[in-house]
Amino acid sequence: MRYVYDNFKNVEIDLRQNSELLTEEFGINVLYIRNAKFIRCKCFNDLNKNGDAKCPYCLGTGHLASVQKIKAIESSNVRPYSDESSTFKTNIGVTDQKSEIYYIRQQYNPKERDLILKVTWDKYGNPVDIVKVLEIINVYEMRGDNGRVELNGCVINNRTDLVTPYRKYLSILPKKIIRQINIGEKGVWPLMNKE
Ligand SMILES: [Zn+2]
Repeated sequence: MRYVYDNFKNVEIDLRQNSELLTEEFGINVLYIRNAKFIRCKCFNDLNKNGDAKCPYCLGTGHLASVQKIKAIESSNVRPYSDESSTFKTNIGVTDQKSEIYYIRQQYNPKERDLILKVTWDKYGNPVDIVKVLEIINVYEMRGDNGRVELNGCVINNRTDLVTPYRKYLSILPKKIIRQINIGEKGVWPLMNKE
């Protein structure tokens, strides 16, 4: 299911200014895990349809997602299913898990089943610890005055069940992948929430 919202009046004004500046100003760094487009790990065994349990990249899942450091705007009190959009600017930072929305720029093309990892960062820009694992369950488009999609609103589900395995993996994340993440490149991450 995909919701399209063309009538976010107040946001349109912001979007007309610049979704990039908006993201720079209000966004936080998160790790974005693209589960919707996963690939087979090189250890994948066609016979038993599994990975090698000792594989350091996929942790035996046999599949890899990509992980990338991106900026997302965390907003907690927007009600995407009503027409009251005027709360967008004023409620950034308010916490109410039931209506948590993450805004991600169109260029990143967020999809359902992708994950947003809210993490802490060290002063060098390396991810340190998992705060929350958030699965995207709905994506709706937000258009600017020119009709172009500028931001995607991501409705998320808090996957508390994934915090422990993800925290464990982050603690052993190969240095090569940390370096890639640090400079904005895509790294690999084991696919842990494949159904
Ligand atoms: Zn593997």
